Amino acid sequence: MTTHDLNLISAFDPSGIPADPFVARHLIAGEWRDSAGGETVERVSPAHGVVVSRAAKGGEDETNAAIAAARAAFESGVWSRISGKERAAVMLKVADLIEANVERMALIETLESGKPITQSRGEVSGAADLWRYAASLARTLHGDSHNTLGEDMLGVVLKEPIGVVSIITPWNFPFWILSQKLPFALAAGCTCVVKPSEMTPSTTVMMGELLIEAGLPAGVVNIVLGYGQPVGSLMTTHADVDMVTFTGSTAVGKSITASAAATLKKVALELGGKNPQVIFPDADLESAADAVTFGIYFNVGQCCNSSSRIIVHEDIADAFIARVVELSRDVAFGDPLDPATQVGAIVTPEHQAKIDTYVRQAVAEGANVCLGGGVLSVPGLDGQFYQPTVIAGVRPEMAIAREEVFGPVLSVLTFKNADDAIALANDASYGLSAGIWSDNVHTCLDFARRTRAGTIWTNTWMDGFPEMTFGGMKQSGQGREIGPYGLEEFLEVKTVAMRIGRTRAPWVRKR
Ligand code: NDP
Repeated sequence: MTTHDLNLISAFDPSGIPADPFVARHLIAGEWRDSAGGETVERVSPAHGVVVSRAAKGGEDETNAAIAAARAAFESGVWSRISGKERAAVMLKVADLIEANVERMALIETLESGKPITQSRGEVSGAADLWRYAASLARTLHGDSHNTLGEDMLGVVLKEPIGVVSIITPWNFPFWILSQKLPFALAAGCTCVVKPSEMTPSTTVMMGELLIEAGLPAGVVNIVLGYGQPVGSLMTTHADVDMVTFTGSTAVGKSITASAAATLKKVALELGGKNPQVIFPDADLESAADAVTFGIYFNVGQCCNSSSRIIVHEDIADAFIARVVELSRDVAFGDPLDPATQVGAIVTPEHQAKIDTYVRQAVAEGANVCLGGGVLSVPGLDGQFYQPTVIAGVRPEMAIAREEVFGPVLSVLTFKNADDAIALANDASYGLSAGIWSDNVHTCLDFARRTRAGTIWTNTWMDGFPEMTFGGMKQSGQGREIGPYGLEEFLEVKTVAMRIGRTRAPWVRKR
C-alpha cells in the first residue's frame, strides 16, 4: 500500500509545542514535592519525538509518605465525616475548573499520549460531567432502614467510605480514567493515593492543582509519580491502604489481586477486552461499517473498548469488508496537533513493535491482510504511527482473534447463524463489551442476553454516560465503575441493630 491511498495529515504547526517541558511533581499532604533523590522521568512525545514533560520519579519514601497522608486525612474526618452537601460543593467546583482548563490539559494530554487534539479536548471536557454526576451521588448516597423487624427493633444499614484507596491508571485515557474513579471515591468520602502511568503523568498533576484550587483539604488526594515498581506495587501491598482500583493490562491486574491478598484489600479491576461486533445481513450496513471503522481506529485501537474483532454473516462478508477498507482509507491519520486528525500516534516504539508482531504472526498463520499491515511514516514527524489495518480470513484460534492487540488492527471472522455468532462472541477469555447490528429486535435481545460482556451495544458502538455503569466480566475485570454501582465500590456496609425500650428478655436466667 502506498501512503497515497490513505488520508494522511502531515506535520502541523510545531509552535503549538511548548518550548519547555511541563514539570510534574508529587502531591503529598497538600505540598508539591520533588523526589528525595531528585530523580526524574522524561516523556518524549510519541508523535513529535521531543521531550514534553519531566516528572519526579517516586520511590518507597514518597509512596509511604503519600499513604500516610491519605490515612491521616481519612482518620481526621476532614473529608470522610463532612456532609454530602459539602463534598458535592467542592466536586462541582472541580468540574467548573476542569472546563476552564480544557485547552491547557488537552494539549499536554495530546503531546504525552499521541492522541488527536480534538479527542483530548473531548476527553477532558467530558470528564467534567463525570465529576458533576459523582457530586450528585455524594448528596443522594444513603443506606437502608428496616422497620419490619418487630415493635421493639429498628435496623439501619449505613454506607460508609471504605477508607484509603489506591488509584492506579494507564496511559491510554489518563484524564478520563482518573475521572471514572477519583470523583466516585471522593463522593463516598474516601481519601486517595493516585499513580498515573509514567508515560502520561501531567494531566493527573494538573488535576491535583485544580483540587487544591477547589478547596479540597490537604492529604485527601495525594499523587505519586513513577513506575509500577516500586510505587504501584507498594500501593497494593501497604497495610494502610483499604482498596485498590486499577485500570490496565490483565497480567498486572492479576498480579495486583495476588499482592493485595496478603492484607485482604478490596480490588477493583478494569482490564482488557477483545470486543466483538456482530453484523447480521438485515442491519443498516452503512451505519455498521462506519461504527466498525470508528470502533477499531478510535485512540489508534489503544482502547480497552476497542472493537478489534468483527463477526460478519458470511453472505455479506466480502462486501462489508470492502466497505470498511474503503472507509479506512478516508480516516485522517497523522499529526495529533492538527484538529483535522482523527487518529494519532502509537504510545511507544515497543508497543508499535508488539502490534506489528501480531500482524506478522497472523499472516504466517494464513490470514489475509486486506489493508495496511505495517508502520506508517507521516511527513514531517519523528514519531511512531501504524497503518489502518484490516485482516480477513482470521480463525478463532489465532492469537489475533483472541488477544488484545491494542492497535489499529481489525480482525474479521464470519458466521452462518445466530447461534454461531453468539458462540464466537463468547469465545474469548475477555468479556468487556460486545455489539450487535440487526434491524430485528428479537435477534438483538437474544444476543444481549446470551453474550457474556459487561456492556452490550445494539446498533451503536461505544456510547457511554455517567449514569450507565461500566466494567467487565470474565478476565476483563471485577467491580464496576461510574453510575450508581461505581459509587458502591467505594463504600463499606455496616449494620446497626437498635432495640427500642428495654424489652429484651434477659439471657441469664435467675437461679
Ligand atoms: P500496565 O498494566 O503495565 O500499566 C498500567 C498501570 O499499572 C501503570 O500505571 C503502571 O505503571 C502500573 N503498574 C505496572 N506494574 C504494576 C504493579 N506490579 N503494581 C501496581 N501497578 C503497576 O499496562 P502497560 O502500560 O504496560 O500496557 C500493556 C498492555 O496492557 C497494553 O498493550 C494493553 O494490551 C493493556 N492495557 C489495557 C488498558 C485498558 O484500558 N484496559 C490500558 C493500558 C494498557 P508504569 O507503567 O508507570 O510502570
